[in-house]
Amino acid sequence: MNRWLLIGNGGREYVIAQTLAKNPEVEVFVAPGNPAMADLERVSTVAIFPEEVQRLLAFAVDKQVRCTVVGPEKPLADGLVDAFRAAGLTIFGPTRQAAQLEASKVFAKKVMAAADVKTADYQQFTDLEKAKSYLNQIKYPQVLKANGLAGGKGVVIAQSFKEAETALEEISQLAGPFELLVETFLEGQEFSAFALVNGRQAVLMPLAQDHKRLRDGDEGPNTGGMGAYSPLPQFPSETASQVMTTVIQPVIDQLAAMGAPFVGFLYAGLIATSEGLKVIEFNVRMGDPETQVVLPQLQTDLGAAILTLLGGQKPRLDWQSDSIYLGTVIASAGYPRNGKDGVALPGITAADAMVSYAGVTTKNSKWVSHGGRVMMVTVKAPSVLAAQKRVNQILDHNVDQQAYTWRHDIGHSAIS
Ligand code: AMP
Repeated sequence: MNRWLLIGNGGREYVIAQTLAKNPEVEVFVAPGNPAMADLERVSTVAIFPEEVQRLLAFAVDKQVRCTVVGPEKPLADGLVDAFRAAGLTIFGPTRQAAQLEASKVFAKKVMAAADVKTADYQQFTDLEKAKSYLNQIKYPQVLKANGLAGGKGVVIAQSFKEAETALEEISQLAGPFELLVETFLEGQEFSAFALVNGRQAVLMPLAQDHKRLRDGDEGPNTGGMGAYSPLPQFPSETASQVMTTVIQPVIDQLAAMGAPFVGFLYAGLIATSEGLKVIEFNVRMGDPETQVVLPQLQTDLGAAILTLLGGQKPRLDWQSDSIYLGTVIASAGYPRNGKDGVALPGITAADAMVSYAGVTTKNSKWVSHGGRVMMVTVKAPSVLAAQKRVNQILDHNVDQQAYTWRHDIGHSAIS
């Protein structure tokens, strides 16, 4: 058996584990995982948290883990990969230094400037009053971003000085020193590109689109992501190669030149503007919920591809090419403010539904909701519209609207 260790507990990790375990020779341990993962074939969970670095190392040694994969960003920014490497263990993920690409927006801007990668113009502030006075003189909309990792809460699109002032208050109350970026607002369709990277070479995955806002029509508060689909039929096929040559490869080359080669999943958040593709942000891991619609398209072995890359070669990845994968997140009613826990999970029995689980726990030997985004239902269909209709049908028939909330317009940018 080829053993893998996966760090994380969400829907993204559910599908990464499922994808790795498609190979009958592979066994996956997820730390800490969630109870639903343990029902996947050849997958088990281990009660070790990402911060328990020594226990993770000991587990990987004890089980003779072939390779470790890290789902979320925080352990990467905290240096989990450095610790594994120092112990001589194989791990697929960026070092603490390379993870700065996500953990520090200023670092990302510097890398992009040096690599000549297009992004929004910005001003940086460490002084609250100076920031306020600048914001009082400029035209709106403007985008305000806290520099560090803020769990998705660090970005505000202000339509007026008044909104910017409120956002400043909130950002100044985040932990750590005041560090703000004020960015030009970019107009255009937003999408995500993911690559598997070994420090020098990269292999791109199908493009995807997330839906950050809570409600239909992209309204309501920002969330971790309410649904996604992939590939994106509204973009020409050249878009992927453009992303590779104008964004991914230059950034990888730049990080390598800086002595911080990037290994792992590289995620570029992009906007197709009238002046071409521009980067909104980089993440140093896969997206959640995009993973849940991207990885099911993979026809080749994910683990083998990662090992080939780590061995210095570029693997060939085959992806399905004739269908759309579209998934909708089912969140607890009240999410993102105060989702209610402990509710029975909707039973989804449709044969064509791919269900992935995130915020679930066990109570009286049954799975119940635990946390905001509880599960996601993905289907495969010939078009975005057909996929959207089918997911809506499944959810409307099976999910209690009092207990759960979900969107009905996932994929709208490709439909209108
Ligand atoms: P980020 O955390 O940097 O991805 O920002 C969160 C969200 O804010 C993005 O997904 C975009 O929808 C939006 N956003 C961020 N930066 C910009 C920008 N410069 N122009 C327009 N929208 C942006």
